[in-house]
Order: sequence, then structure tokens, then C-alpha cells
Amino acid sequence: MNYDELFPTIVSHAKEYGFIFPSSEVYENGLQAVYDYGQLGVELKRNIKTAWWKAMVQMHENIVGLDAAILMHPTVWKASGHVDAFNDPMIDNKDSKKRYRADNLIEEHIDKLLAKSRKDTAKRAKKEGWEEGSEEYNGFLHKNRNAVKAQEVQEQLATALSNDDLEGLRNIIIEQKIVCPVSGSKEWSEVRQFNLMFKTQLGATADSAMDLYLRPETAQGIFVNFLNVQKTSRMKLPFGIAQIGKAFRNEIVARQFIFRMREFEQMEMQFFIKPGTQEEWFNYWKEYRIKWHQALGIQDDRLTFHEHEKLAHYADAAEDIQFHFPMGIKELEGIHSRTDFDLKQHMEFSGKKMQYFDPEDQTSYVPYVIETSVGLDRTFLAHLCNAYEEEEVPSAKGTMEVRKVLKLHPVLAPYKVAVFPLVRKDGLPEIAREIISDLKIEHNVMYDEKDAVGRRYRRHDAIGTPFCVTVDYETKDDQCVTIRERDTMKQERIPISEVSNYVREKLSWKNILA
Ligand code: ATP
Repeated sequence: MNYDELFPTIVSHAKEYGFIFPSSEVYENGLQAVYDYGQLGVELKRNIKTAWWKAMVQMHENIVGLDAAILMHPTVWKASGHVDAFNDPMIDNKDSKKRYRADNLIEEHIDKLLAKSRKDTAKRAKKEGWEEGSEEYNGFLHKNRNAVKAQEVQEQLATALSNDDLEGLRNIIIEQKIVCPVSGSKEWSEVRQFNLMFKTQLGATADSAMDLYLRPETAQGIFVNFLNVQKTSRMKLPFGIAQIGKAFRNEIVARQFIFRMREFEQMEMQFFIKPGTQEEWFNYWKEYRIKWHQALGIQDDRLTFHEHEKLAHYADAAEDIQFHFPMGIKELEGIHSRTDFDLKQHMEFSGKKMQYFDPEDQTSYVPYVIETSVGLDRTFLAHLCNAYEEEEVPSAKGTMEVRKVLKLHPVLAPYKVAVFPLVRKDGLPEIAREIISDLKIEHNVMYDEKDAVGRRYRRHDAIGTPFCVTVDYETKDDQCVTIRERDTMKQERIPISEVSNYVREKLSWKNILA
């Protein structure tokens, strides 16, 4: 299957196997851009969090964790700039009455041009006999009509965004003849700014009620606790505070599945440093974070850095780690050099000091901050896209069949091992259950006795289970089982007493994170 066309397959696969369901789907198709994680999704998500926490907190003696509340004092969001500036440019289509983010409409148009450019290049390469990656291939890839046009539109978009030029954004949409994906019409409204924070109220009575916001990022919970953590942990600079938690944004969205949600989870770390050292730490965290994605099996050629065209009001440097999703190359994680903006703002708005006393210099100052901020749900989606394959393999009948397989890194797979008795009788289920009781203390494992073994393999391929163990009649005599590896489909016979070690070795965090 062509990777660029994979997106709808991923969405239906995720639902069919219990990874992700649309929220409250029983009511009129549910709530747009809100999703529930099913029985397998919750496991994959938890494994991603563990991988992040281990790499960020456990492996850095100068990083500690935090779990701040979602609800915060409303002045936090004034200080952070979210009340005034957390806006997206939106545009309405007059025929479909659908609302879009103007910059996203343009980005999608650029993605389409780039997809066309890749397709044209592949066609031409076939005709001319060019190798992928050769000089001629790359020359054509970057200089064909669609690639040049994509580059031009990208530059216009960057200029309009950095000048906050709403009319400029609309002009690009009109000039590029971008149509509404629903109605196909080019009847567009003006572009307007739209604040993304969800409002709610604290308190029971109308006069005492206080307007609150659901946090649009987890970072501010870290900033306002900076001194609490620094003093109680007795950390010296440089040190970091890491947090995993929900964030809420009233996104203007269109069919992007869990790429852009209204309720999502972030894994953020704020690293507090001495002013002047920001470049060094920015580079350190950029490299560290891209290695983390690679260590978990994301293909190198699907990850790139992207420098921000327009820096946020708080940043002196910002780059994204982008992933090549089937619907385009898009942001997965942001690495931001936030200067002392946030702490200074909170100092000003709260009237409380947020300085650090440096025992070496005997001076007090407001630290600078490097932030790494990655979306948990986006990482989840990147892994689904990265891992999903359809392969032609020989079936039990000797013919060829297609197997759907999720080649997730074993540490991320929802189930690590599935144990099958060959048949549901003659003591084989009992042996399988014994193997399970030994493995389940350390790993998430599954017992499966339904259907022929070949079908059970397919089922577990589709959910990414890296190892299947089959108990057969010979097991009773030789105390051995067949262990089958998901990606190679290789089968090996090993003693039952070795199964636990075999699996432990493949799932060792040491091999991955060291
Ligand atoms: P985008 O430009 O895609 O809206 P952003 O630059 O606003 O993203 P940040 O504020 O830097 O995103 O948030 C950090 C990370 O949180 C992003 O890299 C992304 O992985 C994740 N994220 C942000 N918004 C969403 C969302 N609506 N749904 C899912 N994940 C999100």
C-alpha cells in the first residue's frame, strides 16, 4: 500500500482492533476531534509514557517529575499571554458553513503539491531508470513544477504568518483556488482570529463564580511551581521539571483523527538554565529528543527538524521535530528556547520573586528555559503509521495472503506475548496457563485459544504482539514450546524454562535507552 494513502486505513484499523474510538459515538456520531482510547490503545499509550518518563526523568539525575492540576488561577493565562495571543486564524466556507484554520488549509494544499511532486518523480524515475536518491532523481524532485509551486506558497504563508497578515492568508487561499473539502466551493469569509482556550466557571453562585480556563498546555503548571520544586528538591541549575498531562484547545479541526484533538495529552519538560547557556542546551535537547524517537523505532527518514518561520512571543529559538505522516510532514514535538519570559511574567503578575540564587556566582537571577514538548497522541499516531504494513505471505493452504502487521517496537506493543494451546483439550490449556502465570508478573500477556493457530498469528500481527508461544502435544514430553517472532515470522523451539529470559532480553529498556 502506498504510504501517502494509508491514513483512512490507520483510522479504521485503530477502531476495529480497539485502539481508538470516537468519543460518545452512540450520540449522533459523537463529539468532533475528541477520542477515547480502547483496551489496546490504553496499553500503547501507557508504554509511550513509560518510555518518555524513563528517558527524561529516570535517566537524568537533574530532572524530576510533577503532576500539576488542570485548573489553574486565571491570571496564569494572562501572564503567559494565552488570553491575548493564543489565537488561530480561522476562515468559514459560506456554502458548507464549515470552519477551518486558514493556515492549515494552505498547509494541506502544500502537502498535496508535494505528494504530486513525489508521485511525478517516481513516475519519471521509472521511465528514465533513475535510482531513488540519485542526483537526477533529487534534481527532479526539487525542481518539478509542483515542488517549485509548493516552495512559493510555503514562503507566502510564512510571510503572512510572521506579519499577522490575515488578509494575506485569505489572498493565498483565493489565489491558489483552494476549495472547501466538504462543499468543493471557493466562497470564503474573511479570516478572523479565534481564541483556543475553553472557558469554564469555578464556584456555585453567579456572583461568586470565577471564570477559569482548562489549561491549553501543561507548561505553566511547571513554571508556577518552579521555586516549590527547586527548594524542596534542592536542585541546582541546570535542572528540569517533567510532566505528562491533559491539555485542552478548542481547535478548528477537520478530519485529522488524533493528530489534532480538542482534549489531548502532552509530555513536557522545562529545563532551567543559566542565561547565556541556552544555545548549548537547545542543541543538547534537540539531539536527545530526536534520538528518543529513533530508539523507539521511528524510521530515521521519516523524522526531520524544522526551524520555526515565526518565533512565538516568548522564544529566542524554536525547532520542531516533524514526522512524515501519511497526510503530510507535520509537527510531532517542539523544542523551544523560552528565555526568562514565563518566569518574569509570573513574577510581574503575582508580585512574587521567581529567582534562583546561584551558590557558585553568589548572585540571584531568573533562569532561562529550554522546553521539550511532545504530544502523546501524536506520538501514538506516528507509531501506528510507522508500524503498519500489509505484506503478502504464504497461507496455511499454500496460497498467498495479505497479513496486516503492526511492527511496533516490542516495548511499546500492547501485549508482549500471546500464549496458545494448540487445541483446547488434553491438558494443553493448563500448560499454557502456567506459562502465562509466570510471564504476567513482568509483562502484559494474553491467553488465546480460539481458531486455528494461523488465524491467531494474524490476529496478533494486527495488534503488534511481538511474540507468540504455542503449546503442542510434544510440549508434554519435551517441556518445549514454539516461539514465533512477529516481524520475521521465524519459529524456534525453546524450553518453557527459557521463555521468560527470551522475552525479557528482547524487552530490555537497557538495550533501547542506553
Ligand atoms: P500545531 O502547530 O500543530 O497546532 P503547536 O505548535 O500549537 O501545534 P505546541 O503548543 O508546541 O503545538 O504543543 C506541543 C505539542 O503538543 C505539539 O508538538 C503536538 O505534538 C501536541 N499538540 C498540540 N496541539 C495538539 C492537538 N490539538 N492535538 C494533539 N496534539 C497536540
